[in-house]
Amino acid sequence: MTPIRRRRRDDRRLLRALERWLPPSRIIRDPGECALYDTDGLTLHRAPPGGVLLLESADEVEEAVRCCVSHGVPFVPRGAGTGLSGGAIPLDHAWVLDLSRMDRVLEIDPLERTARIEPGVVNLDLDRAAAAQGLRYAPDPSSQRACTVGGNIAENSGGPHCFRHGMTTRHIESLEVVLPDGTRTILAAPSPGRADPRGLFVGSEGTLGIAVEATVALVARPEAVRTQLASFPSLAAACRAVSRVIAAGARPAALEILDRLTIKAVEASVFRAGYPLDAEAVLLVEAEGSAEEIEQETAVVQAACEAEAALAFETADDPVARERLWRGRKGAFGAMGRVARDLYVLDGVVPRTRLAEVIERITKVGERHDLVLSNVFHAGDGNLHPNLSFDARDPEQCARVLAAGDEILRICVEAGGTLSGEHGIGLEKRDHMHLVFDAGELATQERLRAAVDPAGLANPGKVIPGGRGCVEAGHRGPPGSGERTARRIEEVLG
Ligand SMILES: Cc1cc2nc3c(=O)[nH]c(=O)nc-3n(C[C@H](O)[C@H](O)[C@H](O)COP(=O)(O)OP(=O)(O)OC[C@H]3O[C@@H](n4cnc5c(N)ncnc54)[C@H](O)[C@@H]3O)c2cc1C
Repeated sequence: MTPIRRRRRDDRRLLRALERWLPPSRIIRDPGECALYDTDGLTLHRAPPGGVLLLESADEVEEAVRCCVSHGVPFVPRGAGTGLSGGAIPLDHAWVLDLSRMDRVLEIDPLERTARIEPGVVNLDLDRAAAAQGLRYAPDPSSQRACTVGGNIAENSGGPHCFRHGMTTRHIESLEVVLPDGTRTILAAPSPGRADPRGLFVGSEGTLGIAVEATVALVARPEAVRTQLASFPSLAAACRAVSRVIAAGARPAALEILDRLTIKAVEASVFRAGYPLDAEAVLLVEAEGSAEEIEQETAVVQAACEAEAALAFETADDPVARERLWRGRKGAFGAMGRVARDLYVLDGVVPRTRLAEVIERITKVGERHDLVLSNVFHAGDGNLHPNLSFDARDPEQCARVLAAGDEILRICVEAGGTLSGEHGIGLEKRDHMHLVFDAGELATQERLRAAVDPAGLANPGKVIPGGRGCVEAGHRGPPGSGERTARRIEEVLG
């Protein structure tokens, strides 16, 4: 890749260049309209964009990036803006490249079991298109009615069924990408012995380029599916039941827990699912496979729940009853809107066996900061979502929420976990990166980013803390570890 120097920023000239090929209706500069793009699902932070471009094709994305680069203007791709780590927030007055109009499923190949799509395709629309061919797109974020597959790729998103089927990265066959210098390339399976460039790109949160097309893997729809709901007298008992299920060798498609506050919010909302209001927690389990496999798995799950003194156990086989049980889980974040105006959804990961103990510590953090804290999480993956309800208009509340969030992330890392299971690092956790990466590893990531984006224009201010940040943290990796990794990555990039 030829290194390019960053030009002096000139937004006015950029605008003139854009107006030569983009209709005025697809260039947003009005501050009121731009304000719609100043945040995403992480409403704790806001930053106004320099402008917004509504793009409709890969060629337009390429041209837009080239224009930004030529005029030294930073840019940030945006799908549906449902991200929860602030990834699409336009720091440094970046221009937002809105990809939501690139929403076509271009082709479904039932023989290869793949779909070729544009990045703005909504996750659930892809699954519906696959279903018409008897297939399924497995990663199913709870936001799947709104979020785009481009956003899923950028965040390496998960979802309840990723416990069995794996995160987005497991489902990417190839990607067409506009790199931060405006060149276009295909990222596909590598030849033997070479590292996989798709693994580098998936989860890169708009910092290494923009996915303009993807070929994703589809899976067969299961022969049979059963959803089970168990309610418990304590959250700890529900967590222990999950450990028992895993220890017994079962591998359900999904293992999800909702706590009492979430159950109450769900049951008072349009997402009402019939969850028992006397429970401290419910565990939602989905089994899929042959009828025989489902019976075996149900017996394991039921025994695990009984051993933890479950209050009730319900099974649902028909689609309507199953959909009802899932409605509460999928609508849980939306239902929390009844508790407060804003919701900060944290995303830490801990070893599954330590779920109960970690949640107890997290609960105390919420109490100490006098905050309403609820939990709904992918228990099978040890992926916690402690949720803090608050009012973003109140600066004092925001400060308490940020302080509590910081403590919660530290607890997850101390327990042997990490910063994100699926929502990414973005702006939210950028300054926590030193908790899990040493200075050498952070320097490697910076070098990688500089190699791909020498002008530093792609989604600035995200994921990697500034050089000073990591030096201040004072963490040191084993001598030479960063150098070695950097060399390997540079080899991959050719
Ligand atoms: C109610 C709710 C429930 C959620 N549940 C889940 C869940 O279960 N699992 C989960 O993983 N997440 C969940 N999320 C988070 C969010 O929906 C996901 O991170 C999703 O993948 C974001 O998609 P998006 O289209 O909204 O992306 P955006 O928010 O628009 O962007 C996210 C990031 O991706 C980058 N980006 C977007 N498109 C591209 C592209 N084509 N190429 C390169 N970079 C790009 C952006 O720059 C940004 O950094 C939830 C969010 C909400 C609000």
